[in-house]
Amino acid sequence: MHICFVSPRPSSSDGIFGVEPLRIPPLGLLILASLTPDTVKVDVFDEHLEELPDLSTYDLVGMTCSTAASTRAYEIADHCKNLGVRVALGGCHPSLLPEEALGHADFVFVGPAERTWPQFISEFAADSARRLYSDTKLGRLLNLPLPDFSKVARLAPRYGTMNVALSSLGCSHRCAFCTVYASSGIGFRPRPIEDVVRDLKPMSGQFVWFVDDNLYCNREYALRLFRAIEPLQLTWLNQASISIGHDLDTLVAAKRSGCISLLIGLESLSARSLRASRKTCNVPDEYRSCVDAIRGEGIGVEAAFIFGFDEEDEGVFETTLGFCYDADVELAHFSILTPFPGTSFYARCLREERLLKQEWRYFDGFHVVFKPALMSAERLLRGFREAYQEFYRPEAIARRRRRAVQPAWYFSAINRDYGVLGRSADSGGG
Ligand code: SF4
Repeated sequence: MHICFVSPRPSSSDGIFGVEPLRIPPLGLLILASLTPDTVKVDVFDEHLEELPDLSTYDLVGMTCSTAASTRAYEIADHCKNLGVRVALGGCHPSLLPEEALGHADFVFVGPAERTWPQFISEFAADSARRLYSDTKLGRLLNLPLPDFSKVARLAPRYGTMNVALSSLGCSHRCAFCTVYASSGIGFRPRPIEDVVRDLKPMSGQFVWFVDDNLYCNREYALRLFRAIEPLQLTWLNQASISIGHDLDTLVAAKRSGCISLLIGLESLSARSLRASRKTCNVPDEYRSCVDAIRGEGIGVEAAFIFGFDEEDEGVFETTLGFCYDADVELAHFSILTPFPGTSFYARCLREERLLKQEWRYFDGFHVVFKPALMSAERLLRGFREAYQEFYRPEAIARRRRRAVQPAWYFSAINRDYGVLGRSADSGGG
């Protein structure tokens, strides 16, 4: 048997504003490659960086996709159907809309596929595979094998790093706009710490990019993890809730274990917006002290904000940029509120007939696909683009560099990538 795993490229915008930001290997597919028996030949292709091969030579094509990439994934699946090659689809979007995915694929996976894939492969080999496999059980993510990074080694020079790792999946919060909760619905699923340490050992002394959804869901787990990986002398980054800023012990342990930066979903400076979105773990009045505490321990803050909440008018752009400058965050990531299917925000937009676009390829956080409440769609898009242009002006980057607590090499690399986005923000998208 010969399987081809594909990470499909979203087809609407060629990345953000026509620019491809930093890429990292598709960890989920590399784990599935390792979970596939040695008797099966496996190739992995990352369409963001390379052309797809002739798929007609494969017995099965497996893909995972976000909502924005689902249009392209379905194109590939339909192409495979014409070739007589069977297709398995999983990931965030097929988990949200399995019936839709089954219209294009032979097999669909709901929730993480790590536990269902081995069973599927043996049933596929015996020609008795079911069309739908679902894993929505709570519990620790046990027995994940080492990801097979050799499958994409040829792309190493083009990835930001090959050292990608996972200590947990999911999140214990239930924000109304978030696909993490909507697609898994299963809360926080940590991996056994000894498994994480095993994965990280070959990366000792190096930079590691963790792809957890929210590292700071379970304080005890985070503390034990940091203490266990400290001897590996890594430098690493991950995503976490802002509430980690209240927890000095955990911050100290994170720093000692090599944390150089945390991506934090601040989302909005409006308590009303956050309440309406059920993001109750965020308290805007505490943002500044939490950011100061995190940066005070020498950990950089990459602040993620969303524009377009119903409670916010066009003043939001200036207010948000003002906070980013005052708080000296090392990096800011802006996106446009998007009603991803399966979320309660999507249900509300449907009910209120506010959807402006139906094509999933535009559901990427960089297009306006719903009618905002307190500004026009055009104003929202313009404000979003101008925020990137302003924050990533060369002078603004230079000012931030002087105050940054991240290592200079990382600050420069990540701001250079986002700086390219800022300079391109008036030329692409739509
Ligand atoms: S805290 Fe973050 S990851 Fe968790 S549900 Fe909310 S937006 Fe999603």
